[in-house]
Amino acid sequence: MTLTNDSLFHDAQVLIPGGVNSPVRAFASVGGTPLFIDHARGPRVWDVEGRDYVDLVGSWGPAIVGHAHPEVLNAVEHAARKGLSFGAPTEGEVRLAEMIRQRVPAAERVRCVSTGTEATMTAIRLARGATGRDLVVKFAGCYHGHSDGLLAAAGSGVATGGLPECAGVPASITANTIVLPFNDVTALEECFTERGSEIAAVITEPQPANMGVVEPVEGFNAEIRRITRSYGALMIADEVLSGFRVAPSGMWGLEAYDSPFTPVPTVSITEASWVPDLFTFGKVVGGGMPLAALGGRADVMDLLAPVGPVYQAGTLSGNPLATAAGAATLTLCDEGLYRHLDSVADQIIDVVSSALTAEGVGHWVGRAGSLFSFFFTPEGAPVHSYEQAQLAQTWRYPAFFHAFVDAGVNLPPSNFEAWFVSGAHGDEELERIAQAAPVAARAAASATLKQ
Ligand SMILES: *Cc1c(COP(=O)(O)O)cnc(C)c1O
Repeated sequence: MTLTNDSLFHDAQVLIPGGVNSPVRAFASVGGTPLFIDHARGPRVWDVEGRDYVDLVGSWGPAIVGHAHPEVLNAVEHAARKGLSFGAPTEGEVRLAEMIRQRVPAAERVRCVSTGTEATMTAIRLARGATGRDLVVKFAGCYHGHSDGLLAAAGSGVATGGLPECAGVPASITANTIVLPFNDVTALEECFTERGSEIAAVITEPQPANMGVVEPVEGFNAEIRRITRSYGALMIADEVLSGFRVAPSGMWGLEAYDSPFTPVPTVSITEASWVPDLFTFGKVVGGGMPLAALGGRADVMDLLAPVGPVYQAGTLSGNPLATAAGAATLTLCDEGLYRHLDSVADQIIDVVSSALTAEGVGHWVGRAGSLFSFFFTPEGAPVHSYEQAQLAQTWRYPAFFHAFVDAGVNLPPSNFEAWFVSGAHGDEELERIAQAAPVAARAAASATLKQ
């Protein structure tokens, strides 16, 4: 019997809840059968039926230099030959931490973990340990992984599934999470006026990309910094997705700091408009392997065990294959790569936006660096919050999505996820996207809201 997406999905659903190991992969919000990927190279993925797709998922971010880049594979192969895991420190961890700190000097110390979820979970524990306070403020629509306290009004798969609350999370835990509307400085000020002395940290995606790409209004990140500082709370910048993606130093670099590629930085850390106490990184930093990290102020980071009283650990943390993949990927993320990513994003936005306009489909593009997503909003009304993102006409997305997939373009299977380009995307890929865009725009135009 030949292997098909349908046959595999059938088997998968018997063996694995929903047939997937992470919910958004299940195509629940777009319908149909997920593509089971056989292999990937450069800008493309091949499903088990042998069809190739221009890939705009990019493993949800890590594949920034293109899939199976020879230099990344070499680094992983070289590391693998020396053994898969030792449960002891390695040189690779030191080198990767150095590379992170070179791009983000405010990450004075770095600790590697295996997932973004662990990174944010640890950052929260650290903030509580540092301040002796329990409350954490997060913004609606921001996703910080799936730990108990951070699932409230989260984006990503939580937004896609329309889950109001996650079962299995004790109310006693969510009672310590305060959810505020994104981009609302007044709400943040009022919250701190009321409970400022109890708040350990504000965690934010400095560039949200898990409710679609929703841009922070000018000065929002700096206001978070100002308010948290004046109340002795920490600011945690969750750059698991935006880090090393939207710019060489992530969203912090794009908005507040500088490019590490300029020989003499034009902005110093003390001049930066905002500097968080803690950062979390993931996705790109692992280059496709299970690796994430947190970093930040030395005095706060040194509260982590074994130096300090805040416990955190991991059998596979800083795994040698993962640090090798991460370091090789970051090495390839040079100035030219970011210029290329921006230009590919420009061209995709241009061609898709024109096609939608030609079909009379109102839309708004949220964007930071090469990261972007489309919201179908009447007359192109802007989206600055989770509330506005949820009011967009997501019901146009399934038809739009399937038209692209049928034309050989693999889009994220949810309207709330960003599109990811890579250094390997070139003219042929852009051509295929350009061919597909008018068809997809027509499908979006004729979609109807099913009651
Ligand atoms: C993906 C993501 C996470 C969670 O990372 P995992 O590796 O999936 O646990 C956390 N925060 C943000 C901003 C993310 O995009």
